[in-house]
Amino acid sequence: MKVLGFAAQSATTSLEPFSFTRRDTRDDDVVIDILYCGVCHTDLHLARNHGGFTTYPIVPGHEIIGRVSEVGAQVTQFRVDQLVGVGCMVDSCQKCQPCQHGWEQNCSEGSTFTYNSKDRRDGSVTFGGYSQSIVVREEFVLSIPAGLDPAGAAPLLCAGVTTWSPLLHWNIGAGSKVAVIGLGGLGHMALKLAKALGADVSLFTRSEGKSEDAFRLGADHVVVSSDPEQMSAVNGQFDVIIDTVPYDHDINPYLPTLALEGVLVLVGYMGPLSTAVNAGMLVSGRKAVTGSFIGGVKETQQMLDFCGEKGIVSDIEIIPLQKINEAYDRMSKSDVKYRFVIDMASLNV
Ligand code: NAP
Ligand code: ZN
Ligand code: ZN
Repeated sequence: MKVLGFAAQSATTSLEPFSFTRRDTRDDDVVIDILYCGVCHTDLHLARNHGGFTTYPIVPGHEIIGRVSEVGAQVTQFRVDQLVGVGCMVDSCQKCQPCQHGWEQNCSEGSTFTYNSKDRRDGSVTFGGYSQSIVVREEFVLSIPAGLDPAGAAPLLCAGVTTWSPLLHWNIGAGSKVAVIGLGGLGHMALKLAKALGADVSLFTRSEGKSEDAFRLGADHVVVSSDPEQMSAVNGQFDVIIDTVPYDHDINPYLPTLALEGVLVLVGYMGPLSTAVNAGMLVSGRKAVTGSFIGGVKETQQMLDFCGEKGIVSDIEIIPLQKINEAYDRMSKSDVKYRFVIDMASLNV
């Protein structure tokens, strides 16, 4: 099937229209006409080859909402016309221990990601959601609860589950104290989800001007991280800190704000931290610095169902695909409230 999308051809060129072919439908495939796709900071990292492992051309996009247009002969869970989602993964081995556990993102053989990855059956490079349609193995398709705005639900597929998974793993609920570093796509979902789980929620931000929004999104407290007085006022407070900062940064200023046995969970930055962690701050309070990577299919569906019950969606700015390069520039400046979502109908005009 011929499909139109937008691709980057190199780390330094903008995204431009790109035609390519989606594979023929396999027996266990679901074919999806894409309605909306969220714009994650990972898309920008990979389009610009920040990690050094991008294959060009790259069609980013892993916060996909669409309607089923066709199903393979063995598909049982989905029907034509159903509203569905696809997140960061489209396949995994399904057999290893992590896969059996529902942690397909940690598949021992390596999961197949929605873009910039190798299809495990035919070896082709996967192309993501900045496009008209996608073909996905049934096991990696999510159902979208009725009543959720489809455009606002798109960011749940990555920003939602990436913040949900650590909140659940560290048993966040009533009585927990959670802090979130950075109010962007992941950060605003972390505020909403932690609040809905019953926690007392704080935001660390560099941007004083985001306070009002933070309170509206679920924060009980806002701490401007550049203000030492505000930082010391929250000493020893937090059970869990979710750190969404996308670039190398010093995490030491946050460690004193953890409670005894508290954990700082890195979800934003995946490279080496250039400022060494002060071990004394960990040792003296049995504190930990850890990380978390997206989430499995089952927990993604749980998160979607939770959002369906609570009426939680992302706060979005809808853009046509033709504005994607401007959106990247604005995202680089932390100027988005709080997720860009591409309206794929823009490809039809
Ligand atoms: P985003 O919308 O750009 O938000 C990031 C926020 O971090 C900004 O709004 C800003 O908040 C703060 N920030 C930005 N640059 C900073 C800097 N240099 N120092 C301190 N704070 C900074 O990005 P996103 O889509 O939420 O993604 C965040 C990161 O998570 C990206 O690196 C992305 O690749 C990664 N990610 C990881 C996973 C995973 O599985 N672990 C999944 C998805 C995304 P303030 O203005 O409030 O300070
Ligand atoms: Zn993402
Ligand atoms: Zn596996």
